[in-house]
Amino acid sequence: MSPTPVDQSDNRHHGGCRCGAVRFSIDDDPEHVSYCHCADCRRATGAPVTAFVGFATERVSFTGERPATWVSGPVTRSFCVVCGSPIAYFDRRIGGRVYFLLGAMDAPQNYRPTLHAHVAEKLPFLHMPDGLPRFDGTSVARPRETTETAESRTRSAD
Ligand SMILES: [Zn+2]
Ligand SMILES: [Zn+2]
Repeated sequence: MSPTPVDQSDNRHHGGCRCGAVRFSIDDDPEHVSYCHCADCRRATGAPVTAFVGFATERVSFTGERPATWVSGPVTRSFCVVCGSPIAYFDRRIGGRVYFLLGAMDAPQNYRPTLHAHVAEKLPFLHMPDGLPRFDGTSVARPRETTETAESRTRSAD
């Protein structure tokens, strides 16, 4: 295991990329922790299922290298230019939120997902019998997407 640079800030939550060039910290607790089964996340990470920890953008600070970004429609994904690790995604339809890859957090065991999103795209051999709520599409309503109405109706207050 390679050493992780010590973050000198007093922030509560810390994370970074595989090589340590990108470091970030957040001084508030996450608003959202979820699994995503969508094909876009699958391509972006190479993993059969992805998990994200969502924070208010204004509470996040970056140190070291700025991550590079790649834009696809309303979604911007960021990654380390040195080691290629995925860092986060932003959705312009959900202002003021950043969703870090759960695996980019320094203490991923502290962020227990509370739901599964995009289970309509879940791989058929993947079974996660955890009893968590499941959404065919997104779990956080995107205001300009009419297809989100069904999930908006059934989602719990968050
Ligand atoms: Zn890196
Ligand atoms: Zn996804």
